Amino acid sequence: MFDGEISELIEQLGKLPAVGPKSAQRIAFYVLQNPSFDPLPLAQSLETIREKVTFCEVCGMLATDTQCSVCMDPRRDDALLCVVEEAKDVWAIERAREYRGRYHVLGGALSPMDGVGPEQLRIGTLLSRVRAGGITEVIIATDPNLEGEATASYLSRALSDTCVSVTRLASGLPVGGDLEYADEVTLGRAFAGRRSL
Ligand SMILES: [Zn+2]
Repeated sequence: MFDGEISELIEQLGKLPAVGPKSAQRIAFYVLQNPSFDPLPLAQSLETIREKVTFCEVCGMLATDTQCSVCMDPRRDDALLCVVEEAKDVWAIERAREYRGRYHVLGGALSPMDGVGPEQLRIGTLLSRVRAGGITEVIIATDPNLEGEATASYLSRALSDTCVSVTRLASGLPVGGDLEYADEVTLGRAFAGRRSL
């Protein structure tokens, strides 16, 4: 349908998540039809993130240093710790602007069928952080689906011998879905109305 180079570009773009064939074509035509569009900065930043971005040694979030920007921010509330599955969930919660505490990124959710047990997630480091003291509330913001709920109950049991209060985001989030797809208002409300586990 397209010449070699154009097909190649559309194919490469189409490998990205959330970019379907139509979006890939739209981007390819945009690049071709806009002589002012400079592809170099985009290509360079794609290469740079591969080289420079690593995981924060405290919370597991993406970082360009040993610690991420949230962990290094002295204005964040040390008493609150929000547990999420993935780094993209932190971005979703930050967009909602309701939460000002710290984070802990698990790296996924419990899923025995897929071979993901507690040892595969950053649960050990979470328990160490909580036991180190200073945290009064752990907010479990795993996805509102089967694996997310199973992970939330596992964590609630694992934290039961500590003196922190364990809370879960209020209902209202799309059930079965992914936290990152919730809009900011819904997410903000879910934070404000969180309940004890
Ligand atoms: Zn961090």
